[in-house]
Amino acid sequence: MTGCCLCGGNLAWRPTLLELLRWGDVRPPVICAACQASFAPWPAPHCPGCGRTSAQGQLCAECRAWQDQFGRLVPVTPCYQYNQAMKAFMHRYKFQGDYQLRRVFQAELTARAGQLGSLVVTVPVSTETMATRGFNQVNGLLALNRVAALKVKGQRKGRQAEKDRAARLATPQPFALTKAAQSLAGQSVVLVDDVYTTGRTFYHAASLLWQVGCTEIRGLVLAS
Ligand SMILES: [Zn+2]
Ligand SMILES: [Zn+2]
Repeated sequence: MTGCCLCGGNLAWRPTLLELLRWGDVRPPVICAACQASFAPWPAPHCPGCGRTSAQGQLCAECRAWQDQFGRLVPVTPCYQYNQAMKAFMHRYKFQGDYQLRRVFQAELTARAGQLGSLVVTVPVSTETMATRGFNQVNGLLALNRVAALKVKGQRKGRQAEKDRAARLATPQPFALTKAAQSLAGQSVVLVDDVYTTGRTFYHAASLLWQVGCTEIRGLVLAS
């Protein structure tokens, strides 16, 4: 057996009898218990919009602003909080382009997406990013069929990670609808991204899906 995908340490995994009996469902872990513990799960109580910690589960000021702007909200389910460990993970996966790391959260994110709905749309990356990174980091996190409803418009999207909050919020619409988006009219969809930061990217994508006639959008992100 190979070691932990993140630290190389011992996985120390032995399937239980029950797991052996249900062998078809067993997924050996790809990271060790210590690495898994470094990621902070979805908090409770949380904001029903962005999913971040919020007293009494109230809608936060940022999500209230999105609701005011669009007249509706995308309830986002994050698998994890965006803590130091997640930041380091995203850096290795996304910016250092270690595609093997998609395995760390793939099963979990795929299962969550399936719970939220059957029509899944992912936030696209630009052709420049595809050329340099070689993969769409969001698609890599999902082992399921997706509707390629969105594409990045001609101009470069720019690296969100290098922008401050004000610059991110001022980012013009970077996406456009594809022909495939027509099939989503009247449907409920799951919109998936890797990290929810200001919500700007998410609401750019969501506004196009609303435009095409999606009745409901549920958000799913690895971290918020
Ligand atoms: Zn580890
Ligand atoms: Zn919020």
